[in-house]
Amino acid sequence: MQPLAALIDMDGTLYDSMGNHADAWHRMVSEIGIEATRDEFFLYEGRTGASTLNLLFRRAYGRDATLAEIEELYHRKTLYFASMPPVETMPGAKDMLSTLQESGIRRVLVTGSGQSTLLNRLNTDFPGAFPQDMRISSRDVTNGKPHPEPYIKAMQLASVRPSQSIAIENAPLGVKSAATAGAFTIAVTTGPIPRKELEKAGAAVVFSSMPECARHLPTLLLELLTTTID
Ligand code: MG
Repeated sequence: MQPLAALIDMDGTLYDSMGNHADAWHRMVSEIGIEATRDEFFLYEGRTGASTLNLLFRRAYGRDATLAEIEELYHRKTLYFASMPPVETMPGAKDMLSTLQESGIRRVLVTGSGQSTLLNRLNTDFPGAFPQDMRISSRDVTNGKPHPEPYIKAMQLASVRPSQSIAIENAPLGVKSAATAGAFTIAVTTGPIPRKELEKAGAAVVFSSMPECARHLPTLLLELLTTTID
């Protein structure tokens, strides 16, 4: 395969933001009386806000959330997230992006998030890496991760075939989305999710941290040139 584009997740991949997301979700759902554990929100990572709310509502009340509930509750979660301590960029993320650029690989953002708090910081934190026309966010898809649509749309943006795409993800649902779309999917464990969950979701390679991923990426890209995938 010849990698021409890297399709890159945001939360938990470019930003060390998943702890804050889990805290914000947990606070919001606890307030409305839905029982949930903080850690389960790491498993929902990649879903759109609406999809996570529907999942919780079906479990608690046996029905989907209404559009009004989704709007109000996701807004509340967004406010809590924005009020938390500032999120740092993921250590190693800048090196990973530089390696891709030096290898002439197009970079596309593929996030299930619609949170402007982080989307608006991308240009400052990762200058030039993700122009506006090289981003897929929750606003651009009908079906969020784990559906392949976000990654398929990202391939279309970059004008590449699945066999020319690598994906970089940290969450099982994101890995499933990317792998189903046909990308060579690299997973990085940056949170409490065990690596076997990422392998089960379809990751071709799992690294235990982003610095490790960044260190191995040049070799991996060379190896991929001699790899045949169906
Ligand atoms: Mg993620």
